[in-house]
Amino acid sequence: MNERPCPGPRLVVCGTDTDVGKTVVSALLVQGLEARYWKPVQSGLEQGGDRDWLVNLLHLPPERWLPEAYAFQAPVSPHWAAEMENQEIDPERLSPPNQDQCPLVIETAGGLHVPLTRTWRQIDQLERWQLPVLLVARSGLGTLNHSLLSLEALNRRSIPVLGLILNGPIHPDNPRTLEELAGVPVLAQLPPLAPLNAQALAEQWRIQGLGPKFERILNEQDCPQ
Ligand SMILES: [Mg+2]
Repeated sequence: MNERPCPGPRLVVCGTDTDVGKTVVSALLVQGLEARYWKPVQSGLEQGGDRDWLVNLLHLPPERWLPEAYAFQAPVSPHWAAEMENQEIDPERLSPPNQDQCPLVIETAGGLHVPLTRTWRQIDQLERWQLPVLLVARSGLGTLNHSLLSLEALNRRSIPVLGLILNGPIHPDNPRTLEELAGVPVLAQLPPLAPLNAQALAEQWRIQGLGPKFERILNEQDCPQ
């Protein structure tokens, strides 16, 4: 295999809403791609952070995750959680590392229009990053509207989208409708897993053929500057 001339692939896991399963999907990807994990902005530490949850689920060694750039206690929008701690998020501190040969999975906070400050939203940050996005959406009722609105917003800013990952009970029509109306692939459908553990995620990675699928997708990505 040729040595990669550029850093390992970096991809961004976004959601159509809060609590749609971004962290579970991030865990699926971090394990499957043998990637590092970074959640640059975390609010809601008082309810337990996503990084701790993911690290425990996957038994991830310390070299496989990066510390948050910002972590706040209150389970509210990051801009407000920051203000409660007399802080303000500085977008300059949210640049992902790019010298690493290991793939990097970046989990965003909430949905695309979530404010990081009163003048800077999550989607502004994505536009600055110009990294490929995976959009996580619910599988069931409501997902068509949320997913199409999110994809329209990403398209308007020319943010590259790899595809959708649907989370929840397998739906008989939504994947097809989303692919037809949005013109992006549904890359995976993650059903509810009980128990939810590293082994169950590895099983989904295998049976959905995600290894070859992501190898193909990530090989098509241009090297970042
Ligand atoms: Mg999360």
